[in-house]
Amino acid sequence: MIRLHDVEGHERARRSLARAHGEGGIPAAMLFHGLRGVGKQRMALWTAQLQLCDDPGPEGPCGACRGCKLALGVEHPDLHWFFPLPRPKGVSGDRLADALESDRIDELIQRRKEPLRPSVGDELRGLYLGVVQTIRRKARMQPTLGGDQVFILADAELMVPQESSPEAANALLKLLEEPPGRTRFILTSSEPGRLLPTIRSRSVPLHLARLPDRRVADFLARHTEADEETTRWAATLGQGAIGRALGFLPDGDEPGILEGERRKALELVEAALAPGRAPGYALALDHSPAGARKLVNLFGFVEEWLRDVSAVAAGAHDQVLHRDLVDRLRSRVEAAGVEPGDAAGALLAAEEARELARGNVNPQLIVSGLIRDLRGALRPRRVATIAPAGPASRGER
Ligand SMILES: [Zn+2]
Repeated sequence: MIRLHDVEGHERARRSLARAHGEGGIPAAMLFHGLRGVGKQRMALWTAQLQLCDDPGPEGPCGACRGCKLALGVEHPDLHWFFPLPRPKGVSGDRLADALESDRIDELIQRRKEPLRPSVGDELRGLYLGVVQTIRRKARMQPTLGGDQVFILADAELMVPQESSPEAANALLKLLEEPPGRTRFILTSSEPGRLLPTIRSRSVPLHLARLPDRRVADFLARHTEADEETTRWAATLGQGAIGRALGFLPDGDEPGILEGERRKALELVEAALAPGRAPGYALALDHSPAGARKLVNLFGFVEEWLRDVSAVAAGAHDQVLHRDLVDRLRSRVEAAGVEPGDAAGALLAAEEARELARGNVNPQLIVSGLIRDLRGALRPRRVATIAPAGPASRGER
């Protein structure tokens, strides 16, 4: 039987949850928040297991009873794990809930087989109204084993991303307000600021902190086949989140999914630093004219590179995150004559681009607009200064 890997880290959160459970109960609606990939869904599953355990102790669930075994295999009939899914094509109305439920079961089978997946955040997915209808229907039924029933709603900020009415959120709100019987909810979110305020105010927040790099590296060494150097570097880029670090491990002969995005983001920043406009146009045209939500992650990496640009321009090399490519970045930054304060405006432009991507504007327009704004922020003196001979007029000015 498949069994989830042990929870790594979050000891303090686990102890306080175990204590709360022993002293009369965990709040009926909780919100686990923290960096993407830090282990929120694994912690939600652990908490559900605690609530379904026959003999929980001060450290948490016993791990040996029937409830624990079923929960660890993600097969407990009273543990309901929901996560964002792509919208089924060509289905609407009442049939949407059924189609989504059947897709969820398919993905659950996958997740049981491969519980360790990179957390990349997929803005093309959503928690649609149909999902909330299914949750309501299940919540009204009696728990199969007679104890609690626990609903996990992962990436809860992706509720209703493509629907103009707040119906799904409101239906969920009613459940959170008055959970029927022994129903419990655990929401997770890496962007709690994007949750509806009404949902946020009805759930008790618990922040899950980053893990030390060493623990992420140890975990990767135990659970993957990557060599030590690779796991250590992936842990550094993972910034304390195992799910993120997994995205930097090679996937067969291919670079990991996040490694690919990281490189693409660097190209974009380099195009903005380059003397001519041609590289920027070429990059913009590489994108398809639709599906902008795919770009949200890419722009997250652009922001990371811009922070590195700022550190390099200020000479603070110890603060650079993407250290493997620092020499390449430094030569671009020096050639463009970037000054430390320039990155602030560039960061704002990247944030704006991320919001436009969420709003599903044409990707080619977003990318070309972003490169233009980044150029404006990072190479502003090119136009304004009548450059005297000196260091600032070096390069292609
Ligand atoms: Zn147990």
